[in-house]
Amino acid sequence: MTERKAELAANLAQVEERIARACSAAGRKREEVTLIVVTKTYPAQDVRLLAELGVRHVAENRDQDAAPKAAACADAPLTWHFVGQLQTNKVRSVAGYSDFVHSVDRIRLVTALSAAAERHGRELGCLLQIALDRESGGTGGRGGVAPDGVGELAEAVLAAPGLRLSGVMTVAPLSGPYAGRPKAAFERLMEISTGLRAMDPAANMVSAGMSSDLEEAVAAGATHVRVGTAVLGVRPRLG
Ligand SMILES: *Cc1c(COP(=O)(O)O)cnc(C)c1O
Repeated sequence: MTERKAELAANLAQVEERIARACSAAGRKREEVTLIVVTKTYPAQDVRLLAELGVRHVAENRDQDAAPKAAACADAPLTWHFVGQLQTNKVRSVAGYSDFVHSVDRIRLVTALSAAAERHGRELGCLLQIALDRESGGTGGRGGVAPDGVGELAEAVLAAPGLRLSGVMTVAPLSGPYAGRPKAAFERLMEISTGLRAMDPAANMVSAGMSSDLEEAVAAGATHVRVGTAVLGVRPRLG
């Protein structure tokens, strides 16, 4: 095993241990939580090593980096998740390699994703990104739909050919009433997920929790945790 592969294996084992412990503390089965490794800023070679180590879900946040990486790893048995803020001019490319888009936050994006999915002849899983810092009129900084816009956006996805309504996603906010309170933020996300599942029971993915707060997310009920740093190491600035 190369040094890098051994390092990734050790980090993965630690993250696995954290997820297993969090599941057990919450009385949940380990299989209820899927690990998505966020490979942004790291090379395709790392993605390959992760696949060899048994990782099946990877995520990226910038199309410019993700598209060539996904192409370089096309033969690996991986599901690709797109988790970054998405401009409509990148949608056609993203729809070519992504299985899930976690950052669906506006109707215009739904329209563009639908057209792109149809063009590629693929079905795209869509998670609505919830901006919990926009709950009480805040402006939000990292994309996402305000909680009171979820119903309308969900209807748009349900009506769009080529798209499947898969669930909700959030990033614990840095400002607003949930700043520094990931547990409360993830519990609020679960309420929103309950509302969404009432519209479509299949929309049951809850994407929440990163390297620093995956325990809180698992405790709240997350089905997918998105972990970068704890597996790959501290990223250079930007990303
Ligand atoms: C980078 C990123 C992550 C992973 O963050 P870490 O703190 O490195 O685990 C998760 N979700 C999104 C949307 C990201 O951009």
